[in-house]
Amino acid sequence: MVKPHVVILGAGPGGLGAAFQLVRRKQAQVTVLERSNAVGGNAGSFELAGMRVDYGSHRLHPACDAEVLRDIREMLNGDLLDMPRHGRIRLRGHWIHFPLKPLDLALKLPPSFAFGVVTDFIGKVLPLNSNGAGSETFSSILEKGLGRTICRDFYFPYARKLWGVEPEELSATQARRRVSADSLTKMVRKVLSAVPGFKPPGSGRFFYPRQGYGQISEAYYQAARQMGATFHLNANVVAVEVKGNGQSVVSYQQNGQTYSATADYIWSTIPITVLANLITPPPPSDYLLSAKAIDYRGMILIYLVLGEDQFTEYDAHYFPEKHIRISRLSEPKNYSASNEPRNRTVLCAELPCSPDDLEWKMSDEQLGILMSDALSSAGLPVKAQILQVASRRLRQAYPIYLQGYERHFNQLDNWLSGIDGLLTFGRQGLFAHDNTHHALYMAYAAVNCLNDEGHFDHEQWQRYRQIFETHVVED
Ligand SMILES: Cc1cc2nc3c(=O)[nH]c(=O)nc-3n(C[C@H](O)[C@H](O)[C@H](O)COP(=O)(O)OP(=O)(O)OC[C@H]3O[C@@H](n4cnc5c(N)ncnc54)[C@H](O)[C@@H]3O)c2cc1C
Repeated sequence: MVKPHVVILGAGPGGLGAAFQLVRRKQAQVTVLERSNAVGGNAGSFELAGMRVDYGSHRLHPACDAEVLRDIREMLNGDLLDMPRHGRIRLRGHWIHFPLKPLDLALKLPPSFAFGVVTDFIGKVLPLNSNGAGSETFSSILEKGLGRTICRDFYFPYARKLWGVEPEELSATQARRRVSADSLTKMVRKVLSAVPGFKPPGSGRFFYPRQGYGQISEAYYQAARQMGATFHLNANVVAVEVKGNGQSVVSYQQNGQTYSATADYIWSTIPITVLANLITPPPPSDYLLSAKAIDYRGMILIYLVLGEDQFTEYDAHYFPEKHIRISRLSEPKNYSASNEPRNRTVLCAELPCSPDDLEWKMSDEQLGILMSDALSSAGLPVKAQILQVASRRLRQAYPIYLQGYERHFNQLDNWLSGIDGLLTFGRQGLFAHDNTHHALYMAYAAVNCLNDEGHFDHEQWQRYRQIFETHVVED
């Protein structure tokens, strides 16, 4: 039997996982089209000053699906490190260990903050809470679950930075997808999990590839290629023509030329808002208005190469406070406890913003100053020599779940789901605020829905879609 030709759009973890599974199971001929010159998408790595660095802080969480984790371990061949988390949050000028630790909280929490949390907790136990009226939002859910103090000092300012809007403007879905400890009881459980006796397996730990987070994607890429998948890098998909006879034609531009590929199935992991505008025949105009009504938050990653062994012992620093412009700082060397190279380390700052913000157009030099200033105001001045400044821009870092976004997303999703042979998944494809292991799980799920006769089981896919709804992103 002739195997179907699956053309996969995007070579981030979602696209790579699907390519790998399809060729491993010999279920399809596979062509992957990727706009960038490297694989891995937002979860990739690149080399800077002789070190491998990621696009911001990335870790593989132990919540990873067992089959996916087994494959990653096997492909990485001893390179997947099991590391303790060792981060800090800056709260009202104090440093709190992250993940939270009871003793640290007791000793280091600003007294006014601790008092506020306890008062909030008592307020919850007493039946005075009347927060139930009206429709729920990100802020109402969190305030109800965690109390005002944690929200005011941590979640709300952090939310303003990440998504660039007021917490009241965000949908309740954001709270469910993003905040895993969304009640004081869960929070207490999280804190207790830092106590050895209470620790559930895996908590406070993460997996990290010795050669940077992108090693996971690169391993999928190499394995899929070896098993026969064809990859085109620097291939920007510019059109998807739906023929109506179960086949479609994908056009892409590579090195100034336009090429096309005929597909039995198109599996897209590119942003759903971009995909919607590439399809011909186009849908009625209100579908395209829906594509305009939802958007992603961008992010600039600023890298400082410093002439010293190590900046701090911590893997990541989180900055909810408004006056510190960046949201997080990571030191890639600390993710793999590497001592090499000597006398050099890299810091990576995450600066959430939008392409129309001033920062988006800043030069590396300006961004380097912005980052150094932010670190100084966080009490972490850079003292070593700055050897180099570099930056990268992610146009689609986080989906923004504004209130009412669900209606627009559902409209797009319903239309795209009705197109024969087209499937959209992954973080960008389903507008899902998720982790790498979720994108890989989606990819494996898609392949499970394609049977040996080349038919795609849509009912099974809908059941998987319900599972995807339960994914909660982890930091
Ligand atoms: C700052 C930050 C920190 C994160 N930290 C973690 C973490 O600690 N742990 C974790 O598990 N996850 C983390 N994530 C999430 C993780 O990066 C994503 O879950 C993962 O990258 C999703 O993979 P994907 O394939 O669905 O999408 P992407 O990685 O976004 O891949 C989509 C691909 O499509 C390509 N593409 C787009 N348009 C086109 C086009 N027109 N033609 C061809 N190709 C196109 C892109 O170039 C990209 O390669 C983090 C994300 C960010 C932004």
